[in-house]
Amino acid sequence: MAPKLGIIADDFTGATDIASFIALAGWKVIQLNGIPDDKVDLANVDAVVISLKSRSCAVAEAQALSRQAMKWLNHQHCKRLYFKYCSTFDSTALGNIGPVTDLLLTETGLNMAVLCPALPINGRTVVHGHLFVHGQPLNESGMQNHPLTPMTDANLLRVMEKQASGECGLIPLSCIQAGKQAIQSHLLALQQAGKRYAVLDALTDADLMTLAASLPEDVLLTGGSGLAGALAASQPHNPMREDQAIPAREGNSVVLAGSCSLMTNQQVARYRQTAPAKAIDVERAVEAGDAYLQELTDWYQSQPKDWAPLIYATRPAEEVKAMQARFGLEVVGSAIENLLAALAVRLNQLGVNKIIAAGGETSSLLVQQLGVKGFTIGDAITPGVPWVKDVHRSLWLALKSGNFGDENFFFKAQEIFA
Ligand code: ADP
Repeated sequence: MAPKLGIIADDFTGATDIASFIALAGWKVIQLNGIPDDKVDLANVDAVVISLKSRSCAVAEAQALSRQAMKWLNHQHCKRLYFKYCSTFDSTALGNIGPVTDLLLTETGLNMAVLCPALPINGRTVVHGHLFVHGQPLNESGMQNHPLTPMTDANLLRVMEKQASGECGLIPLSCIQAGKQAIQSHLLALQQAGKRYAVLDALTDADLMTLAASLPEDVLLTGGSGLAGALAASQPHNPMREDQAIPAREGNSVVLAGSCSLMTNQQVARYRQTAPAKAIDVERAVEAGDAYLQELTDWYQSQPKDWAPLIYATRPAEEVKAMQARFGLEVVGSAIENLLAALAVRLNQLGVNKIIAAGGETSSLLVQQLGVKGFTIGDAITPGVPWVKDVHRSLWLALKSGNFGDENFFFKAQEIFA
């Protein structure tokens, strides 16, 4: 049977996030890191997620990547296409949500796209077309200061119209709560009024379930993990998920932290009270010699393994700023990313079969260097962060972007081992 959903995600941890929400509903999900160049076994797979790095690149590149991903998914006969972006609608007046949606509308021949970033479980709600983060308007939530995609307007209709080619309408909460018929006639009315996109209000998971049951086949689905999770929950799935959903206790684990977010700082501080932990010497990371890599490897091997030893570059914001001022932001960032990825490869060669990684960019490079082309999605450790398993070998990964999880995340990831 062909996959029911083919998903194009505009970044790596966002792809894992949506894959996790769908797996939670019992679907078998495969996440592919980039567009595959060889054959992938999709037997009994309910949903395929292709992760791209198209959120902040040039518009033409984002469109070209998305077109290739769409063609690959079509080739696998995926029944429905879904364009996944962040639940905070991360984009600029140039794109890339608008231009990629336009491209997918043109390529599929569909007349209308729905936009549904809402993810109530993580505090992202949409009311009167305005996006809120834990009750704060998007432009007052901290997202107005994002270094790449500052969100300075909570009105998604305006945000979309600035970066897309057509006009945007709204399916308001009152209509959603009136049910399927109301939603379908309102969508039709918007199309007849020349709207090319419709923002979907949603305040609760129940609203998402109503939407999932009501959206007709002839609209392009775009949004966050919430609507996709609701779609999965509202449809039957293969009764038996063949793959293990959690790693076994056998073998060794490591925690590699390259994120300096507030939450990762708390997680590291909490974890190192109990587990063996080693701070990375940033200067030596920038020197990038093999001797330092070997020293960290030897340290790992000499440690007790009741809890996975932690190796971390995580520091408070002032220290990070000082290092960036001294070496340059990109130099220090990529030196640490490279060191952690090289460490992951070396430890894996030495038999480490479970890696917990903190940091979006950190995780992305680590997966690339480990040569992981795709993984199956297991059980969630926390909403949006599942254990995943390499499709080709017995290697398990937990990939956490900066602010996910609570302060006990590193413990929780290991407490669920089978
Ligand atoms: P997050 O998901 O929290 O944004 P990322 O891994 O995406 O985490 O980004 C964190 C960036 O900060 C990486 O490029 C990483 O190499 C860099 N970094 C980590 N530790 C330090 C440090 N002590 N000083 C400077 N930069 C650091």
